[in-house]
Amino acid sequence: MTKKQAILKRPPQGSLRYGHSWVYRNQLKEISADAEPGEILSIMTESGKFMGKAYWNPKSQISMRILTRREETVDEVFFRARFEKALDFRKKTVTDTNAFRVISSEADDLPGLIVDRYADVLVAQFLTLGMEKNKALIVPALQEVFPDCGIFERSDASSREMEGLKESVGWIEKKCAGETLIHEKDVEFAMRFGEGHKTGWYLDQRENRFLLRGMVTPDEEILDVFCYEGGFSLQFAKAGARVLAIDSQKDVISRAEEHRTRNKISPEALHFEVANAFEKLKELEKSGRKFDWIVLDPPSFVKQKSALSGALSGYKELLLRAFKMLKPEGKLAVFSCAYYLDDHFLMQVSMAAAQDAKRLIKILKFMKQASDHPINPFIPETYYLKGYLFQVS
Ligand code: SAH
Repeated sequence: MTKKQAILKRPPQGSLRYGHSWVYRNQLKEISADAEPGEILSIMTESGKFMGKAYWNPKSQISMRILTRREETVDEVFFRARFEKALDFRKKTVTDTNAFRVISSEADDLPGLIVDRYADVLVAQFLTLGMEKNKALIVPALQEVFPDCGIFERSDASSREMEGLKESVGWIEKKCAGETLIHEKDVEFAMRFGEGHKTGWYLDQRENRFLLRGMVTPDEEILDVFCYEGGFSLQFAKAGARVLAIDSQKDVISRAEEHRTRNKISPEALHFEVANAFEKLKELEKSGRKFDWIVLDPPSFVKQKSALSGALSGYKELLLRAFKMLKPEGKLAVFSCAYYLDDHFLMQVSMAAAQDAKRLIKILKFMKQASDHPINPFIPETYYLKGYLFQVS
């Protein structure tokens, strides 16, 4: 057992949330005087009961994140075992792609660490001081479990600031030249590491892309709003649909166009446009254009609870216009990737918008983040992406 300790206050304030891996600053009574920021400490109750081992960052409100509830050493072997377990699960659940999330932070019992695999490249995000300090154990453990993969670090998430960390982006071990080709079903795209959002691709939407593609009929007209690099649109176009896809970022759209060319899809079948979603929907509605399908996959409007009302009016406006632009029996997929905008919120705002648009709706599917982004119900923050597929009448 590590000698350095963090002692919890007496319950209720100091009790750990059952099954959760976070310990807040105000739950701590005392920390060993010689403990260093980022170091792994044993969490003890006041009466001396061992509760687990967690790394400590006095700078963050979430002062400790639990790595294990056992009295075990956190070394390279520890990380390797966690990686093997996580990979084994993905081997059983991920299909039709060579790009998937290998480690999903808290949901894989490794708070603060994200590892995504893109063919033979791992993209790692070290989001907390504790994980940053363990890099020297984590990198060799990854190399052992993935001997054929290079490793690119993409630690540029804004949350690092709250941990007192600067950005760190670049190759840890480079094994490939230039671009890496990945695929989702028969759609191929070239990854250039260090570019694009997140680790490069919205892997969490993969299963929903496949689901919707399977329901699309050739020649249907689809509007993909907030399309990013065309994750949904490329699948729809491959299914024979005619797609208009919009995103407000120019660089994102130019990469989407590169993917379209690589997949030999014509600009007539799939048209990408740089546009603000709110303005474009208004314009399309005015023009009287109708669609068989509309996808609304906005960014996380809400990082804090306090922004909820703004998000509500944003969603309402988008949904109202979308419902009005659907052909009879048309389908609408709407998503929320913000933890605070939950299923209930999404359903309520969808129903309110449908009512204002004078449409009746039924649910064809409940959707969520892909299975390689597991959900731990005791850590509700791990359930962030949810969606509904509605049909109007
Ligand atoms: N559906 C995509 C992921 C969408 S992420 C996929 O499956 O890959 C959200 C996208 O919305 C981002 O690409 C972002 O650039 C874009 N975006 C943000 N605000 C926007 C706005 N006001 N209008 C249009 N696009 C916007």
